Amino acid sequence: MTKSIQVTNPATGELIREIPADTEEEIHQALKRGHEYFQEWRKVNAHERSRLLKAWSEKIQNNKETIAEVMTLESGKPIQESLGEVNYATSYIDWYAEEAKRLYGRTIPAASETKRIIVSKQPVGLVAAITPWNFPAAMMTRKAAPALAAGCTFIVKPAEETPLTTMKFIELAYEVGIPESAVQVVNGRGSDVGPLFTASDFVRKITFTGSTPVGKSLIKNSADTVKHVSMELGGHAPLIVAADADIDVAVDQTIASKFRNAGQTCICANRVIVHDSIAEEFAKKLTEKVKRLKVGNGLEKDTQVGPVINEKGYDKIVSQINDAIDQGAEVLCGNQYHADKEQGYFFVYPTVLQNVDVGMKIMHEETFGPVIPITLFKEIDKAVEIANSTPFGLAAYFFTNNYKVGAYLHDYLDFGVIGWNDGAPSAAHAPFGGMKESGLGREGGVEGIEPYLETKYLSVGL
Ligand code: NAP
Repeated sequence: MTKSIQVTNPATGELIREIPADTEEEIHQALKRGHEYFQEWRKVNAHERSRLLKAWSEKIQNNKETIAEVMTLESGKPIQESLGEVNYATSYIDWYAEEAKRLYGRTIPAASETKRIIVSKQPVGLVAAITPWNFPAAMMTRKAAPALAAGCTFIVKPAEETPLTTMKFIELAYEVGIPESAVQVVNGRGSDVGPLFTASDFVRKITFTGSTPVGKSLIKNSADTVKHVSMELGGHAPLIVAADADIDVAVDQTIASKFRNAGQTCICANRVIVHDSIAEEFAKKLTEKVKRLKVGNGLEKDTQVGPVINEKGYDKIVSQINDAIDQGAEVLCGNQYHADKEQGYFFVYPTVLQNVDVGMKIMHEETFGPVIPITLFKEIDKAVEIANSTPFGLAAYFFTNNYKVGAYLHDYLDFGVIGWNDGAPSAAHAPFGGMKESGLGREGGVEGIEPYLETKYLSVGL
């Protein structure tokens, strides 16, 4: 097992901090503590759990600037986006602080006068979470908040690249009185910690946000102890621009969807599918705006696109661009880089490619970078066919002012989250999650607390 984790700044390659990784025994003890304390935490009444969650959210908001700076330093995302992520992260805590008080059961009319049937919701037990680096705050709170609200105890392993934001959040939870055994953080390499979580009898639920291959292995490894699993996995979002779309809206929303976090979000538009009658105008307007995006260190206030997270991510993006160009794609802007493998920083300039064909790598592999490939369609059925031709089913977008086209696309796109004339659909009060190989379960909304609950029924004989 790794002994320590070096956290570096992706904009410069500099070491920010070295933190110790937890040993196998420390992780085992943390799981045992969480499991044992569950019997106490489940007894804390829902209104008190709600109060503690609200206090946590307020404390985080009071430390917003400091947290955002740490987030930008370790993840590279522009400071404005880090501030936005802190708000997004607390919006989940606020939402589930309220939902804690609404975990209603029901009574069922019995088939006999001498019986009463009562259904109640109860917490599943200790929840173990594994989170990614691209949203180090929000991907954690959208698991921790419903878990704690439901009465579960919670333990999280953040990504090696970005543990500091998560550690700060957990420290603030303790400061407002959330018990140390109710919410814990452990650090280590995913391939070391994951098997300890899945093998443990103490853990009743695994919740994961990250890549599809790792998600599949966690599902398999959870089978031996029949754990509950929730999976928020990879995506390959199509963005369809129909013939009657408002092109200016489509351009602005495509940029909003694609370049947030330098294209490193699971719901980023990954394939732009444009009606051929408007393709020229769309590509021209899009390219003009993309060229103006400011690339730089996320700590500089006017930066709109920061670095990509690491060499592996950078190599994947470059290989997809090169593959497309080799197969005939035309570069409208970008395909420029500012990277140094020795120093450890990797910037990719926002890139727009046209004449992209469905056979190219970029049309099948998740890019996780600031690249827009444009392909064309003539009939709307063809756009749907291209959009659905992926094992992923997380997010999709379409732009049309024709309600019949909109209704058709809504019905036949096989994706869990859909934006209609909207490039930024995520919200704490809505159920976020994927179909097909993009995941299992939903986070956010009333649906997002269900995976932390067991349904129990009581039959009373009178
Ligand atoms: P990743 O490699 O799967 O890593 C995510 C987390 O899993 C990290 O904490 C990582 O730990 C851990 N991990 C790695 N190998 C593991 C293993 N064998 N067992 C258990 N845990 C393991 O994914 P990533 O590349 O960092 O993140 C990007 C992916 O997340 C993309 O595919 C993206 O689409 C997806 N994502 C999905 C959503 C959603 O809501 N659906 C949201 C955000 C991101 P270490 O890094 O510490 O080793």
